[in-house]
Amino acid sequence: MKVLLCSMPDTVPQFSAKTWRAPNLAISSLAGNIQPHHEVALADLVLKRTTLLPSLKKAIEDYQPDIIGLSAMTFQFDTARKIAAFIKSFQKEIKVAVGGYHATLLYEEIASSEDGNPFDYIIRGEGEETFHDLLDAIEGKRDWQDVPGLSYRQNGGFLHNPPRPLQDLDNLKLPRRDTRIWKGYLFSGKGLDMVETSRGCTMTCNFCSMNRMYGRTFRTYRFERIMQDLANAKKCGAKYITFSDDNITLNVKRFESLCDAIVEAGHNDLRYIVQASTSGIASSPALAQKMKHAGIQIVFLGIENVSEKNLKIMNKGNMLEKTKKAIEFLHQNNILIVGGMILGHAEDKEEDIAQNFEFFDKANIDFFGEQIITPYPKTGMRDILIKEGLVTNAADYRKYNGFWANVKTKHLSSEELQFLRWKYKRKYSTFFKTTPVFKANFAMVNLVRIFILRPYYRLKNFIISFGKSEHDIFKRDMKKFADINKFF
Ligand code: SF4
Repeated sequence: MKVLLCSMPDTVPQFSAKTWRAPNLAISSLAGNIQPHHEVALADLVLKRTTLLPSLKKAIEDYQPDIIGLSAMTFQFDTARKIAAFIKSFQKEIKVAVGGYHATLLYEEIASSEDGNPFDYIIRGEGEETFHDLLDAIEGKRDWQDVPGLSYRQNGGFLHNPPRPLQDLDNLKLPRRDTRIWKGYLFSGKGLDMVETSRGCTMTCNFCSMNRMYGRTFRTYRFERIMQDLANAKKCGAKYITFSDDNITLNVKRFESLCDAIVEAGHNDLRYIVQASTSGIASSPALAQKMKHAGIQIVFLGIENVSEKNLKIMNKGNMLEKTKKAIEFLHQNNILIVGGMILGHAEDKEEDIAQNFEFFDKANIDFFGEQIITPYPKTGMRDILIKEGLVTNAADYRKYNGFWANVKTKHLSSEELQFLRWKYKRKYSTFFKTTPVFKANFAMVNLVRIFILRPYYRLKNFIISFGKSEHDIFKRDMKKFADINKFF
């Protein structure tokens, strides 16, 4: 059979699709683990945002797949549904499967509503073995009920097989990056790829849906396999690697050894981007040094919040001290920090939001990764916020990407929350401030910023904002962001 696997074109407004275009690792891993007698191709639709439907149609007409798999996160699910309907509108006989977190967590709701109409299969949980077995079932080599993790059509509805046990990572083959039909993955103008070294996390953050996918588990790949994967990504043109692990700092000693292994294997010629917890980084001054040697250049640091009030509510204790230490260790080693900040806690007032941005600014955080709390389906946080009457958008998942306010606080409406996020982000813009670590890592980019980009944007902002109120400019910006994922 011919298999086409697609990721969705939607991006979060915080990330410019021009500077950050990442491949989807899940579909590459699926491709690496299907039977060798099938043909497979990968289409990351984020590379075709401006010509989505004609590009997809052409890819399908050229390749003539028998089955198409769509991978979608919560905010992308509506696009996946529309793409599936689009495929069926001109190639009815192609089977379409959907997978990913959203489909896994909400398969019953999807199957019993119009959302499920354009799909033939729902792949729940980790997809590699389920997709493999699905192909066997289509070929008549396996009974349909013998595919754990699959929901499939019967008598007009969906039948849900029992869930599949967690994947033994030792049994997974390497991702197939060579089957991508388009090119152009990049970060900062250089080739970008994704690699995972572990799956899952044993922490209990109640806003996170990870536990619903894997339970509270942490599984790791062997270092030998990780090094092979890095070599493969390098061969496919990567200069930057993002580790997609849920929590790579969960086992600090292992992470230190991983950094050593990267150096030993000579893969420290790559530059790496990772997500890390403040407690993990703060627990060992040696870790940041080893990260630097391994080539880790950017850390998305889960600072979450620095307001004393919120830390108390979250029962986070001396988290602020750990945050300060983690920033110090990373910056001492010239590692750039994208500070993750979560706004919109139940008790938030304007002063709490301002306090977070001021802290980030004073600490010379290089980029801000601020998000408004999102009541993701099936999370504990959603239940609490709904009970407190603080969820203002419970059903339109297209806005579940951390950028939009889908909640209010006890003191701020969701419109006020959205506005304050915009106001303080603008006030403390990291684009108009050069941090020492940014300068050390991106000297040339900094010069381009100083002499070309900043003067251009200052002038442009002055002209388009002339005579307009702050609220007018806010509304204009929100309209621009609201339109970025309109494809239909
Ligand atoms: S540490 Fe990260 S991955 Fe783990 S539960 Fe919390 S948010 Fe989720």
